[in-house]
Amino acid sequence: MFDCGFGIRDIHQRLKRVGCQPEELDAVFITHEHGDHANGILPLAKRYGIPLWMSNGTFQGMGKDFSEVDLNFCRDGDCIEIGSLKVTAFTTSHDAREPLQFHLTDGVSKIGMLTDTGQVTPHIQRELSACHLLLLECNYDEGMLRTSHYPEHLKRRIRSVYGHLSNDDAASFLMEVDRSCLRAVVACHLSQNNNLADYARKAIEEAVSRHGIQVMVADQENGTDWIDV
Ligand SMILES: [Zn+2]
Ligand SMILES: [Zn+2]
Repeated sequence: MFDCGFGIRDIHQRLKRVGCQPEELDAVFITHEHGDHANGILPLAKRYGIPLWMSNGTFQGMGKDFSEVDLNFCRDGDCIEIGSLKVTAFTTSHDAREPLQFHLTDGVSKIGMLTDTGQVTPHIQRELSACHLLLLECNYDEGMLRTSHYPEHLKRRIRSVYGHLSNDDAASFLMEVDRSCLRAVVACHLSQNNNLADYARKAIEEAVSRHGIQVMVADQENGTDWIDV
């Protein structure tokens, strides 16, 4: 599992919905210390003895007591084997201590994740080349953010190179990345105040749908079903 922003009861329900139990988790990777990614992890890891992986910076940023937890550190470029999967960490551009995102492969298919980055660096673009499935941040619609009630400093933070990707940023990335293997894109990490699922879908579809690539939008309540890649 990647990230755990929800409380333990919520996680139980969400795992159950996809036919899983917490005891079955072999590892949880935490991308960075922000609450929507890390808030629920400590009680879950403690209760079920689940191994955790995160950067040292994320550990420092969380500032929590991890004694009794099987805590492992990883950094940009590390490749970690979890069962039959190889999980690779790469650095992103975000206002956290040492944020990472991940791609993983079973030797046949490659899945890439990219959320919580204010820009797509050449390094990120290389790491996410030739994915079969991409989970891609579509955080905000430019127009909605411009007219939203958010204070100016928060708008600047979201738009900055250490903030988040807009729908248009995500679409530009998709037009530039090596998508020779790409079968599906899941738009995710949509802002509840500054985006609409239809806007995110439209931006991503304009970038890739003519290439026969399936487009889905994950909403915060329901996520997505299992996806075959
Ligand atoms: Zn986030
Ligand atoms: Zn964040």
